[in-house]
Amino acid sequence: MTAAALSNKFKALGFDLTLIESDQIGTVGVGEATLPHIRYFNQALGIDEPEFMKLTEATFKLGIEFRNWGKVGDHYIHPFGDYGLPADDLDFHQLWLKQHQNGGAGRLSDYSYPIIAAEQGRFRLPGENPNEIGSNFGYAYQFDAGLYAKFLRRYSEHRGVKRIEGRIVDTTLDAETGDIECVKLDDGQTVDADLFIDCSGFRGLLIEKTLKTGYDDWSEWLPCNRAVAVPCESRGPLLPYTRATARTAGWQWRIPLQHRTGNGHVYWSDHISDDEATHQLMSSLEGPALAEPKQLFFKTGRRKKFWNRNVVSIGLSAGFLEPLESTSIHLIQEGITTLIELFPHRSINTLDVEEYNERMGLNFERVRDFLLLHYVATQREDSSMWRHFRDLKLPDSLQEKIDAWMHRGYVIKYEFGVFLPPSWVAVMLGQNLQPRGHDPRIDRFDMRELRQKLDTIRDETALQASRTPMQADFLKQHGGASSTPLATATQT
Ligand SMILES: Cc1cc2nc3c(=O)[nH]c(=O)nc-3n(C[C@H](O)[C@H](O)[C@H](O)COP(=O)(O)OP(=O)(O)OC[C@H]3O[C@@H](n4cnc5c(N)ncnc54)[C@H](O)[C@@H]3O)c2cc1C
Repeated sequence: MTAAALSNKFKALGFDLTLIESDQIGTVGVGEATLPHIRYFNQALGIDEPEFMKLTEATFKLGIEFRNWGKVGDHYIHPFGDYGLPADDLDFHQLWLKQHQNGGAGRLSDYSYPIIAAEQGRFRLPGENPNEIGSNFGYAYQFDAGLYAKFLRRYSEHRGVKRIEGRIVDTTLDAETGDIECVKLDDGQTVDADLFIDCSGFRGLLIEKTLKTGYDDWSEWLPCNRAVAVPCESRGPLLPYTRATARTAGWQWRIPLQHRTGNGHVYWSDHISDDEATHQLMSSLEGPALAEPKQLFFKTGRRKKFWNRNVVSIGLSAGFLEPLESTSIHLIQEGITTLIELFPHRSINTLDVEEYNERMGLNFERVRDFLLLHYVATQREDSSMWRHFRDLKLPDSLQEKIDAWMHRGYVIKYEFGVFLPPSWVAVMLGQNLQPRGHDPRIDRFDMRELRQKLDTIRDETALQASRTPMQADFLKQHGGASSTPLATATQT
C-alpha cells in the first residue's frame, strides 16, 4: 500500500522508490476486513472497483455483527453510516432515546438502512443524495489481503517502483547522525536511501531492531495476545458483513469472501490453552477447513515513536491493535496519508516528525479506547476473562467518553480518530449502556410528533432495504470473480 501510494503521488517529482520484500519470509497472511476509508485510498490510486473486487475475491461490507458481547445471546450490528436522519441540529439517536425513555421505540437498528440491508444479505452502492435514507451509509470490503498485496505490487512496479526480492540481513548507521545509511541484503547487495519506510511487520526490522525505538505495551487494557486463523468453505448466503462472536477467553471472527470464509479466534492465553482455542475454532467452522490452522502471537501496543530519525514505521511494525473493528489496514492508510502530507522536502524537519508522531499517536489511542469499550460495556461475568474487565481502571479518555454518554447520550467528538459518533452509539447501545437522560433540546418535539417522525423513518428504511438486490446478485454485475459459485450462494 505504501509503495503504491507513494509511486502514485510522487512519480512526477522524480523520487526513486525501492521496495524490498522477501517471498521466503512472506506476509503475515491475515487481514481481510476493512473500513470504508479504503475506498478513498483505492480511488486516489485510480483503481477500478469491479476489477479490484474480481482480483481480490472481495465482498462488500456494511458493518460488523457483534454476538454475545453485552450478554450471551445478544447481537447487534455496528453499521457504516448514520442512524435515521438528523432532526434540524439534533442527532437522530437523541430522538430515539427520548422515545425509548418514554415507552419504547423498538430497536435502534430498525432505523439504519445498512443494518436492515445487511441482515437480509442485500447490497447496492449508496445513492447520490447523502441526506436520504438508503444513501447515508458507507461500505468497505472483505478481501484476500494476499491478492491485494500482489495487485498493488504490480501497480507500484508499473509506476516505476524498483522491487528487489531478498532478505535484509544487516543495516549500517551513519556514525555522526545515527540515521540509517543503508541496508544489506543476503546476496551482499546494499541499498542506501534518504528515507526508509519500515513495513517489515511484527519484526520492526529498522524501527526496533536497528533503532531500538521502544514499544508502549497496552496489554493491561487489551490483553488478548494470540490468534489462530483458518479459512473454510463458505455455506449459506453471501453476507455483506463481518461477524465477531465473543467467547469465554476472547472472540472469533467470520469474514465472508467470494471464494471462501476467513475465520479466526483471538484469545488471551492466560485464560485458555492454545489447543482449546484451536478446538473451539475448528469445531465451529461452517464448512470444511481449506488449510491447517495458523497460530499468531502479538502484544497490543504502539511504537514509542512511529517516525524515528530517517525511519517511518507503517503497518504492524508501528504497532498492533487486535482486529475486532478491522482497524489495522486503516491505520496503515492513515500512516501513508499523514506521511504524504508531511513528506520531507530536502531534509527531515523535526516539526514534521513531531506532528506525524502526535497524529498517529492519537489515531492509535482512540482505536484502543474504542476496542476496549467492547470489553467493558458488558454485563458478562461468566468467565475469568470477563470478570477481569469488570474492575479494570480505564484510560481517562475512555472513562470521560462513557461518562458523557451515560449522562445524556452525548458522544465527545475529536478531529483525529477514525470512529465517528454513530459508531460509539452503535456499540454503547448495542451493549446495553443506556444513558440516564437525553439532550434537552429534544423536548421541543411533542411525543406524537416524535413517534410519527420515527415511524416514517423506520418504514422508509424497511422499504429501501426491500428494494435492494441480494449481494450475490449485485456482485454478478459489479466485481464477481469467475471462480465464484455466486449462483449457489444466493439460493440458501
Ligand atoms: C490475527 C490477525 C488478524 C488480522 N485481521 C485484520 C483485519 O481483519 N483487518 C485489518 O485491517 N487488519 C487485520 N490484521 C492486520 C493485518 O494483517 C496487517 O495490518 C497487514 O497484513 C499488514 O501487515 P504488514 O505489511 O505490516 O506486515 P507483514 O504482512 O508481516 O509484511 C511484512 C513484509 O516485510 C517483509 N520482510 C520482513 N522481514 C524482511 C527482511 N528481513 N527482509 C526483507 N523483507 C522482509 C516480508 O516479506 C513482508 O513482505 C490482522 C492481524 C492479525 C495478527
